[in-house]
This record gives sequence, C-alpha cells and structure tokens, in this order.
Amino acid sequence: MNSGFQTAAADSDEKGYILVVDDDDASREMLARRLQRVGFQVESAAGGQEALERVANAPFDLVLLDRSMPQMGGMEVLRVLREKRTARDLPVIMVTAEAQSESVSEALEAGANDYITKPLDFRVALSRIRNHLGHRRAERRLQHSERRYALAVEGANDVVIDWNVASGELYASPRWNEILGLTPGETPQVIGDWFSRVHPSDLMRLHEAIQAHSRGAQPNLELDHRLRHADGTYRWVRSRCKAVYSSDGLPERISGALTDITASKTADPLTGLPNRTYLSEALAYRMEASRAAGTPLAVLFLDLDGFKYVNDSLGHTAGDELLIQVAERLRRTLSSCGPLSCGPAEVADSVLMARLGGDEFAVLVSGYGDGRQQAELIRHSLSAPFRVSTHQVYVTTSIGIAVYNRGYTAPHELLRDADTAMYRAKVLGKNRLAVFTGAMRAQVTERLRLGNSIRDALARGDFQVAFQPIVTLADRSLVGLEALLRWPAGAGKPYATDQVIRVAEETGVIFELGQWVLEESCRQMLRFHAAIPGRRLPYLHVNVSGVQFATGNFDEKVMEALQLTGLDPSWLGLEITETAVMKDVEGVLVSLKKLQANSVRLSIDDFGTGYSSLSYLNQFPFDTLKLDRSFLHHLDHSHGNTEIVRAVIQLAHALHMKVVAEGIETAEEACWLQQFGCEYGQGYHFSHPMFETEVMEYLTQHVAV
Ligand code: C2E
Ligand code: MG
Ligand code: MG
Repeated sequence: MNSGFQTAAADSDEKGYILVVDDDDASREMLARRLQRVGFQVESAAGGQEALERVANAPFDLVLLDRSMPQMGGMEVLRVLREKRTARDLPVIMVTAEAQSESVSEALEAGANDYITKPLDFRVALSRIRNHLGHRRAERRLQHSERRYALAVEGANDVVIDWNVASGELYASPRWNEILGLTPGETPQVIGDWFSRVHPSDLMRLHEAIQAHSRGAQPNLELDHRLRHADGTYRWVRSRCKAVYSSDGLPERISGALTDITASKTADPLTGLPNRTYLSEALAYRMEASRAAGTPLAVLFLDLDGFKYVNDSLGHTAGDELLIQVAERLRRTLSSCGPLSCGPAEVADSVLMARLGGDEFAVLVSGYGDGRQQAELIRHSLSAPFRVSTHQVYVTTSIGIAVYNRGYTAPHELLRDADTAMYRAKVLGKNRLAVFTGAMRAQVTERLRLGNSIRDALARGDFQVAFQPIVTLADRSLVGLEALLRWPAGAGKPYATDQVIRVAEETGVIFELGQWVLEESCRQMLRFHAAIPGRRLPYLHVNVSGVQFATGNFDEKVMEALQLTGLDPSWLGLEITETAVMKDVEGVLVSLKKLQANSVRLSIDDFGTGYSSLSYLNQFPFDTLKLDRSFLHHLDHSHGNTEIVRAVIQLAHALHMKVVAEGIETAEEACWLQQFGCEYGQGYHFSHPMFETEVMEYLTQHVAV
C-alpha cells in the first residue's frame, strides 16, 4: 500500500544503528537480517572483544548483547562499556537464554537497559528496541537543546537565574561569577547566596519587589540593586525576572536575567566621568588604604566661577558643551599628573576625577601630597578660554581641598570639608584654592548646632518678642511698634538677633520662626490695643526674611496668621530688606502686591545698605522707607554728607513714601532728621526695645487721649 510504504520509509529514516552481538552465527545473522528488513542499520559482532572494538569505532544507537558467549561474556562486555565515558549512555539490551530473575537483575544492576529472552519473540524484541531508541532520541534532543541553551547563557552578557522558590535552590549562570569576581567554588547554590551579596541599603527594596511580584501586584520583578564584588566594591545590576505560579497561585520558581548596569549607574551621562556614587565608593577605598599605609590623600572640590552666567546668557546647550570641554580639559591636565585610576578599589598612587553635578567636579589625589600642586594645575588650565559654538568663553574655578587624616571615617565627611573650603575660596574672591582647616569646620558645626538649638528653643517656647516704638519726630507720639526677636539667654550666652536670623535662614528653620514671630506679635498687639481703648493705635511692624518668600505662598502664610490671631490686616506693616527684594524680584513682587491688596502695609528696611536704586524700588508697593542707622554717620555736620541724607529723604517723598530713621541715639540726630523732613524716628533716644509689661507701662505714659 502506498501509504504503508511511505510510513515505512519515513520510519526507516528514524530507525537506529544497531549492533547485534552473538557468538551463534545463525541466530545473529537471522536477527540482523530481520532488523534490517524493518529498516534498521545493523552490524554484527561474533564475540565480546569484537563488539567492544566496533562500539569504539561506530556511533551505535543500541546494542543487542548475548549474555553467554565464550571468552568474553555479555556481562563483561557490559561492564567495560559502562566504564567508558563514550559508551556509558549507550542503550544495551541483554539477550539471555534463561529468564531467571537473578541473571536479569544482575544484568540490570550492571547497567543493562533491558533484557529479552531466547528464543526471541521478534515482535517483543522490536517493541523494546523501539522503546529504547525513542528514549535515546529524546535524551539526545534534550542534551542538544541544553547545550545550545548553555552556550547562549554563557555567551550572554546577562546572568541567567532560576530560583526554585519552594526548595530555595538557585541556579545562576557563570556570568554571575564573572561579574562578581568569584571562583567556580563560590557559584551560588541557594537563594541566600544572592541575598547575602545585596547591598544592605537595597535589601529591603529587593524583598519588597519580590513580595509585590509574588502577590501579583507587579507584573515583573524589575529592580536595580547592588551586589558585592569579591573585592568588596559593589556592582549595579538590573533584575528582570518573572514568577512561574503553581496551580494554587503561589510562585513556584522565579527566573529571569540580571544585567550589569554598573557603568551607566556610576558614570555621569553628560561628561562620561565617574559620578558622585562612584566617587564616594572610590573615596572609601582610598581612605582605607591611606589609613593602612599612611599614604597621603587629598580631595579637591571644584566649582566653576561664572558658569551660571554662561548658562543664562548662551543657553543650556552651550552650558552642557562647556561642561564637556571642562571635563576633557580636566582629564588631559590630570593625566599629566599621574595615572588616572580605573576602578574604585584601585588605590595605588593615582588621580580620580568625577562630576558631582551642575558645575561641580571632584578630584581624588592619592599618594601625591596635599593636592595643592594638582589644584594649581587645574586652576591654571581651566582659566584659558573655551570655545563654545561661536563664542569665546572664560571661566575660572574655585577649589577647596580637604586632606585626609585619621579623624575622617566616612567619604562624605571629606567631601563636605572640601566643599566648605571651596565655599571659602569663593568668599575670598573666587579663582583660587583654599585648604580646609579645623576653624572652618568649627564655624560650620557651630552653625549647625545653633540651627538645631533654634529648633529646640522654638519647640520649648524659649523665644520672645520685644517691641521698639516708632515715633513721630515732630511730637514724639507713638505711631508703631517694631517686633524684634529675642532669645533670652538661659544657661548659655545670648545670641545676637541678626546672627540667629542668619543661621535660621541657612538651616531653613526661618519659616517656622518667622511664622511664630508673626503670630506671637499679632497676639500681643491685640493686647496692647485693648490696653489703650479709644486712643490712637500703633501699627505693628514685623521683619520678614527674604528666604520666607521662597515657598511662593508667603502672602497666604501672613493672611493665615492674621486670621488665626484676629488682628486686622490694616494694622500690620511688614519690613523687608532691600537685599531680600533684589534677590528674587519677580517672586517677591507677586507676594507683596497680594499683601498690599489685602491692606497690609509694606516698608523697605535698612535702606542704604544694599545696592538698589530708589527708582528701581518704585515698582514695589512700599509705603515707608526705613533709613539705615549707618546714614546717621553722615550727620556729622560736614556739609556734603548731610546732603546725601537730605537727598534720599526727598527722593523717598517724591516716590510717595514716608521715611523712618533708624537708630537715633541723640536729641541732636532727631533734630537734624526732622529738619530734613524725615517724618518718623526709632532708636534708643526714644526707647529701647521692650517686653510686654514694659510696653504696657510705656503705652499708659506716652499715648495721648
Ligand atoms: P532692624 O529691622 O533694622 O531692627 C533694628 C535693629 O536696630 C534692632 O536690632 C534694634 O535693637 C537695633 N536698634 C534700635 N535702636 C537702636 C539704636 O538707637 N542704636 C543701635 N545701635 N541699635 C538700635 P536687633 O533687634 O538686634 O535686630 C537686628 C536685625 O535682625 C533687625 O534689624 C532685623 O533685620 C532682624 N530681625 C529682628 N527680628 C527679626 C524677626 O523677627 N524676623 C526677621 N526676619 N528678622 C528680624
Ligand atoms: Mg526692621
Ligand atoms: Mg533696619
């Protein structure tokens, strides 16, 4: 039949290559012929020795082995085959004369895959042969695909992982060891081998991500985390895994890949230099090495002077271009100083540079003294002009240096001190070096300490508000009370108010502090008003720091305080220094206009200490100008100086502002100012700042019916 023939042909393609081993010529040849007839490729051997030779020389798929043969029997042939690496898996069907269980089990134990008994039932023999050949083929296919898979896995850049969640077993491809510098003996076996290498700060996130994915809350287990390298540094890997769930919905295995992303995590994308993460790690190693070997280590903190100007005037693309060129120039300059370091843990004498962000760079100098020489080279090389698109651009750099000593325990401390020194270099006039000293740290720590004690004092209610009268120069009648913050000394020394304010501004506590002064002074003001019913009421003047405008909702905070305390907005005047106004013209202007619309009065404070011009300030809704105390020095009778004071007062009037002269200490000063047309005055001559009970007394004495 046509179809039958085709099946046979197709079968014969798949049939195996069989060796028939039998010392009995007749039965051997008969079996061989019958097997050939159904399509097998068959060879035969008449004895054990010959059989072994043939197996060694041809790729048989199966051996039919007669158990009893003279000289070398089937059992012995089997033992030899099983010892050979190449024939260990070769299916062997033992052909036995007796079907006694001992001889069968003996053959099976020795490694035979099956047995058939003589006289042969060919159909039985054939089905067993086919069965074993089928197994063999399946095994081969699996081996092939496994080998292919193994090759793919080995060749891949990723670590392939497979975690059997139930048993805790973990398979990780060899790339794991490569990335982490491990020996074959350190290949992970259980999931703990993974977790124990995870950076302590990432472990929690990893567990959470596994949980989330196991629950089905996240479709994938995708997470960037760090794994510890054999040398103690950390490598960044990105995991992309997926769980296979069992029928009860629990994750059975979690498998996927880990990709080494260290390079992209530790390099600054713009300049290609190492980034802050990399630098901190490298610094930790160098600190350790310096501690052990006593070699010098210096951290240079660079900040470009005038970068902001380039960015603002030429645009961000030009700014980026400049940073790339700066990085390149740094690289060139520093490679002339010593070998550039290649890895974070490589701590030999070398120079390592990094971009910290913005226009800030850092350089680690190991084994070359205090780094001054390198810093000077850098400063010099960066001061030559850059060419950015069609522009010639000049930038200079301020460099702070911190030199390692055993007092330092963490990289961020050295970086912080180098930063502090850099800040000093800026203050001293930019384009220079400053080496960090203990005195600089003392200032910084004092500032931080003071910032914290301000917070504490505020929480404890230690602050107070004093009030200083503002009077009409003509008749000394009270028109206002300026609220001034006071921190009465407890056990320690009292702090000057302007120092407290400066630290509060630097540490950010000014927002709470400013709000407290506002609310507290409003409350007291209401009590003062209540104490002099029916009389002319004084305005409340409250000082405001420029920083308080930074949140953008300053006007709302003021209105909140007024609502909370119940003081009418028209009794409140805010004093803002001209420097605060000039720093963020737009932001301040918006807030001030809203406040003015709500009837709050506004004064410009300390006028004359900044650089602003009156005509410029005209666009602001100020109704009062407070003339700084320093102007009073001009009133020393020399004609030219008094003219300045007179001119400022006249200009203020021309701009519809009233003038308050601050810091009047003598009757003479008060007299002069009144002659020049100044309306109001404030100062020790009239009254020192006072606390509530003194103010009450003052009010009863000074406020006319
Ligand atoms: P300011 O607003 O110009 O306040 C006037 C300062 O001059 C006060 O110093 C006051 O005690 C002092 N003073 C008054 N009359 C005389 C005088 O006749 N001679 C001399 N030599 N000084 C006089 P204080 O209280 O130390 O405050 C200093 C600065 O701190 C204030 O200058 C103000 O800018 C700021 N400030 C005070 N309280 C606050 C506040 O609650 N918030 C904010 N942001 N700043 C405040
Ligand atoms: Mg003031
Ligand atoms: Mg002032």
